[in-house]
Amino acid sequence: MDNNNLWQRVLEELRLSVSKPYYQTLFLQTTLISLENNVATVSCTNPYVQGMIENRYYSLLKSILDSQTKNNNSLVFVIKTITKQESKEIGPLFEKEAVRKPVFDTHTGLNPKYTFSSFVVGNSNNFAHAAAQAIIQNPGGAYNPFFIWGGVGVGKTHLMQAIGHAILEKNSDFKVLYTPSENFTNELVQALQDKNISVFKKRYRSIDVFLVDDIQFISGKEYSQEEFFHTFNALYMAGKQIVLTSDRPPSEITKVEERLISRFMGGLTVDIQAPDYETRLAILKAKRLEKNLTIDDAVLDIIAQNISSNTRELEGLLSQLVTQASSSHTELNTDFAKSFFGIQKQKTSKILQPKNVIAAVSRQFQIKTSDLTGVSRRAEFVFPRQIIMYLLRDELKIPLVKIGEMLGGRDHTTIIHGSEKIRQLFNNDASIKQQIMLIKQTLSE
Ligand code: ADP
Ligand code: MG
Repeated sequence: MDNNNLWQRVLEELRLSVSKPYYQTLFLQTTLISLENNVATVSCTNPYVQGMIENRYYSLLKSILDSQTKNNNSLVFVIKTITKQESKEIGPLFEKEAVRKPVFDTHTGLNPKYTFSSFVVGNSNNFAHAAAQAIIQNPGGAYNPFFIWGGVGVGKTHLMQAIGHAILEKNSDFKVLYTPSENFTNELVQALQDKNISVFKKRYRSIDVFLVDDIQFISGKEYSQEEFFHTFNALYMAGKQIVLTSDRPPSEITKVEERLISRFMGGLTVDIQAPDYETRLAILKAKRLEKNLTIDDAVLDIIAQNISSNTRELEGLLSQLVTQASSSHTELNTDFAKSFFGIQKQKTSKILQPKNVIAAVSRQFQIKTSDLTGVSRRAEFVFPRQIIMYLLRDELKIPLVKIGEMLGGRDHTTIIHGSEKIRQLFNNDASIKQQIMLIKQTLSE
């Protein structure tokens, strides 16, 4: 099968798994330039598309390509915009394309980008980072399993893969395997169909470092859980390192057998928060270096101030900004960045989300969001949490039960009590009123 045909098939299959707009903007214009030594080189039209595909769809694309070729491949993305004129001139596309050669073992599933050298450490992730260092010194012996949880785009996958790279660097004969939990499930189903479950078992039980990403997706999949439980035990008993990530702590993963949850909690559980301003700025500087961009610190500062959610968005916006400036032939200066965010804001400010409210209160009181949404009843958390209750109830009109769920599974009577108390204070205490107005102001900015 030639590259064109193969890529058509991959895209056909991919189309079933991603939404139409994403499919059209991200994938439709990609091509497979080459597939050599199990390294697929794929062209994208611009850095934004490249970033999105690499960050969000790497494992999905890989698993489809692997199943089409019955091989274990890795993917490299290059940017190539072609004009009509060019395509006439070069004839067969991309012959002269200079390709970045990846230097990694195709059997590990690791993306060469995600190493410690490109990982910025700040307040939001320093504990997770320190624990990771201990694991590298002593795989299987320090913390096992190592369970990393946190919201979308905070760097879980990056950190997990960096652990894999670092262990491999020290022990080149180790078998490191990175797999999104969906891949584990898909391969299990395939093995059952092909009746070679023993090969599957052998493959997963001969690993030294097992990195399973987004384990929450195993929820509700009983057979996968059963098999995962046995794999986990076998590796654990043999002193092999297991690292898991999830978008929530183990105790909040639903529809997963109790015995498995208790295994997840048997080692060290850490969370990664959304990066604070300083970390955001440091990450942007690292990305500037990595992507070899010429952008002033002042522009990076504007981005860091305007994006507070997660690193993926930060990176995406950096790329968008660069692309927009270059496509409109404008200098990427602070004015351009400011007007760029002016537009962005109008678009997003209409939909105020609970997470924004929680983040705003967290900033105001300098308390971690996980503490505010957690179960602890420590006095210093109670008051800010009640402000959240009040804002979610009065401003966002969210049902009491929902608010209770968001705030550590609290009863609706607690929410009524908390929000009433703040409403009283708001009406009778000027300083508290001012404090709340301030929070509201940051929300409407
Ligand atoms: P998650 O798995 O938590 O959703 P990722 O690990 O995929 O997030 O990170 C999203 C993007 O942000 C990646 O491009 C990653 O390199 C980048 N990133 C996240 N955290 C950091 C960090 N601390 N330093 C540098 N880059 C980071
Ligand atoms: Mg991830």
